[in-house]
Amino acid sequence: MEIACLDLEGVLIPEIWINVAEKTGIRELLATTRDIPDYDVLMTQRLRILEENNLTIHDVQEVIDSLGPLDGAKEFLDWLKSEFQVVILSDTFYEFAAPLMRQLDYPTLFCHRLGIDGAGKIAEYHLRMPDQKREAVKRFHELNFKAIAAGDSYNDTTMLSEADRGILFCPPQNVIDEFPQFPVATDYEMLKAEFLKARGEIRA
Ligand SMILES: [Mg+2]
Repeated sequence: MEIACLDLEGVLIPEIWINVAEKTGIRELLATTRDIPDYDVLMTQRLRILEENNLTIHDVQEVIDSLGPLDGAKEFLDWLKSEFQVVILSDTFYEFAAPLMRQLDYPTLFCHRLGIDGAGKIAEYHLRMPDQKREAVKRFHELNFKAIAAGDSYNDTTMLSEADRGILFCPPQNVIDEFPQFPVATDYEMLKAEFLKARGEIRA
């Protein structure tokens, strides 16, 4: 049985920070891993901006509560679970993801957590380990699983490289250009076909 490793934002749910930026009108929060590949630099900038604008975890959660999964995401995930063991590997935080996980029937999610003070200020963030998406795939290999990974952005490319097969889903053009070795799917039907093709190649 192969494990399907799936990115979350940009694959099953909208980009959380982009929506927070749009709802709050703070343009600086529009930056994502697509723009700043160094996640630590990006997160430090985000927390500084939230503090400067007096935004708490409650303000951010209010925005996230209003988001749903992407159109067709729930059906795609249900299908994927019927064909593979599915683990979602994300660089988001449990505190952010919770309302959306409910709408996706609580799939297995490996991500990070926030440090929130008594006033609701997001004081810090805790990454369980550096490059956790790739490390998870390595551990699955040690357990004698094959892995097929799909993601949309820079922070997925080490996971895609480590996996037996990697697939890009609706990536920006610069990621397509820099990682031409990965097939590209632009909708869920194509993504299903790529997963099945990858499994066929692995089992051949
Ligand atoms: Mg993503």
